[in-house]
Amino acid sequence: MGKKPPRVVLTVAGGDPGGGAGLQADLRVFRALDLYGVSVITAITAQNTRTVDSVFPLPPEQVRSQLEVLLADINPLATKTGMLASVAIVNEVVRFARDGRLGRLVVDPVMTSTSGHELADAGIERDLLDLIRLADLVTPNIAEATRLTGIEILSMADMKAAAHSMMDMNARAVCITGGHLRGDPVDILFDGHDFIELTGRRAGALEQEFHGTGCLFSAAVAGYLAREMDLVAAVTAAKRLVTAAIDRAINPGQGLSVPDPPMLEP
Ligand code: PLP
Repeated sequence: MGKKPPRVVLTVAGGDPGGGAGLQADLRVFRALDLYGVSVITAITAQNTRTVDSVFPLPPEQVRSQLEVLLADINPLATKTGMLASVAIVNEVVRFARDGRLGRLVVDPVMTSTSGHELADAGIERDLLDLIRLADLVTPNIAEATRLTGIEILSMADMKAAAHSMMDMNARAVCITGGHLRGDPVDILFDGHDFIELTGRRAGALEQEFHGTGCLFSAAVAGYLAREMDLVAAVTAAKRLVTAAIDRAINPGQGLSVPDPPMLEP
């Protein structure tokens, strides 16, 4: 008797040789959630826990081939997109999403690293919106929400205004993560009707920054959607997982700490 087929989740993201962010981080989350992770790489970066040295986006045709060949064989229940790096790659991914081949879709609109390095073409925001409109959820942090909406975010009221603005741009649901504001991190989830405030506790030392937190969060939401949770439950569980991962953060290098997701209880 063969085993039950695995639940498959896909990440379409950049690679981080240091393992803290990007598709390496996503695959660790999928493993922790007892899912089978598959990955399409969009860009090769040269980085460690201290710095991003360079970014090399793959040719869009190569990303298309990876998706074509993978999806001809394996069908993901859910997909998360992370660093898409170039407008041309975004447009490739849009085509697959439009054809409904990616399953439930979570878009993490990665543009800049916590260490301040650009990870995407200037002006990618406009094309990202085409993908965001096809997604079950978009998960910008404060800086990404500002770049997508033009709204400066200093308070909860600003976060809500930015969420409204995202919905006006035809997002289906948005979760703005507030971890980069001061105080305990409050994320807001908005589906155009109800605001849900997800209040967390600031883990780690005061002012401490972590590498890969946004990647873990969006990967976890996609993972929980693949486990058939509804959106609110998936976002709530993903926030809990990220907090637990920050509590267990490790230092593989000499720079930023890397959150370490705990394995799901069987
Ligand atoms: N490198 C890659 C490939 C990423 O996808 C990301 C974030 O999504 C980063 C680096 C930046 O990670 P962080 O801002 O958490 O340091």
